[in-house]
Amino acid sequence: MRRVSGRVYVPDARGQYRAYRALWVKEGRVAGLEPGRGEGEAILPGFHDAHVHVWKVGQLLTDLLDLRGVDSLDRLAELLRERDRRLPPGAWLLGRGWNEAVLGAWPSRAFLDAVVPGRPVVLTRTCAHIHLANTKAMEAAGVGPKTVSPSGGEVRYQEGLFLERAFGLLERAIPPRTLEDYRRYVLAGAHHLLAHGVTSALEPGADPLLLEAYRSLDREGRLPLRVSVLALVRPDGEDTLYPLPEPYRSDRLVIAGVKFFADGGLSGASAAVSRPYREVGGRGVLRLSAEELFDLALPAHEKGLFVATHAIGDVAILEVLRAYARLYRAKPSPLRHRLEHFGLPDPKGLILARALGVWAVTQPIFLEELRENFLRYLPEGFMPRCYNLARVEKAGVFLAFSSDAPVVRQVSPLRGALAAWRSPLWGKGLPLARGLFYYTQPEASGLPQARLWPGHRADLVVFDRDPFLHPEEARVARVEVDGVAVFAG
Ligand SMILES: [Zn+2]
Repeated sequence: MRRVSGRVYVPDARGQYRAYRALWVKEGRVAGLEPGRGEGEAILPGFHDAHVHVWKVGQLLTDLLDLRGVDSLDRLAELLRERDRRLPPGAWLLGRGWNEAVLGAWPSRAFLDAVVPGRPVVLTRTCAHIHLANTKAMEAAGVGPKTVSPSGGEVRYQEGLFLERAFGLLERAIPPRTLEDYRRYVLAGAHHLLAHGVTSALEPGADPLLLEAYRSLDREGRLPLRVSVLALVRPDGEDTLYPLPEPYRSDRLVIAGVKFFADGGLSGASAAVSRPYREVGGRGVLRLSAEELFDLALPAHEKGLFVATHAIGDVAILEVLRAYARLYRAKPSPLRHRLEHFGLPDPKGLILARALGVWAVTQPIFLEELRENFLRYLPEGFMPRCYNLARVEKAGVFLAFSSDAPVVRQVSPLRGALAAWRSPLWGKGLPLARGLFYYTQPEASGLPQARLWPGHRADLVVFDRDPFLHPEEARVARVEVDGVAVFAG
């Protein structure tokens, strides 16, 4: 038995935090709590990031050119030239994270051709729904001015842009990632998350090779945190489907769900909305109708896998909820399916989400990092409902918070909870304690509850000072998974 003392904060079932002065750990589990208000370091349940692309975070930390925060085309050109000089001949130059609202302009194919004429270049926008290519890359992919856009996507040859499912055309030509690449990325991403107090995460969308990377790391006992993985079913740009995954469950790894996409992103004005976007116009891209989603998701639902669907715009959210309602009618199930993002639900969407008992897995940090895009593009009158987490909470919808990194830079749950509290686009913010509680919902991802109640796994984060009293200054000092230190600051 080991005693961990300090100011221990444990939420009850309704999310009210109570203070204790110590907790006891035995064989990786919480064995007991000592009443009283302790002093010194603050100890909280380890956070669950319910939607974070672990491998992409790792890839960005290792192999990709990180373009997040690049604030001018000149700076972008400089970074590209520098990387171009360091890559071996013939290698593709891949980058991610540009955002025209931060850059001050849209980069173009002509711009890329001028800066890096000698090798294929593909730069993914921060949302990952829009990709920019130079002419070399388009040639390698066999894409020309006469190429026809696939359904659910669009190629804009002149601009060099690939929207939504059209990326599949380009992706086929990019040298494939290996199993070892994936393993390296997952571990790099996992350690980055741990350093921010995240002890469990959901990987939202894995192809068969990434699933194998996770399974192999788990078999070797190398996963430093708990991960739940959603399998991709319909790869972009291809008509054949991946097979449904075999359910997998160990102490560290769960494969129990599948992922679909119903629309695009809000920051790039491609989420499917009922009113036109300002400045750029259009109502976004609906990638799946309720009927199509129902047909695609039924086999997973029948197999006992939970379904998670990306839906941001009010139109997409309703389509997904209609599909889910049909799934539950076709075969009643205690599984709670999920909507990823849930950015702009209309009143009907809120009522239906509550009635079906599904999870809204949402990203408060967007309010800070994608604010400029929201302010610029959001359709008239949509501001008050944009990631309005207080409204979703009030409607009684199950909420789980997440970062969606590397769409954003910040993976810290404390920063996310702070954004929900201090940066709303909709009046009064969500209290910090609510935000932290919604970052403590591993059951949204098919993982066991982890709230430091006796009997729960001793997955915990230690802050150097009380995050409720000093939210701006509190730093992660130590992290434990199964009562074993996995990070020390
Ligand atoms: Zn995502």
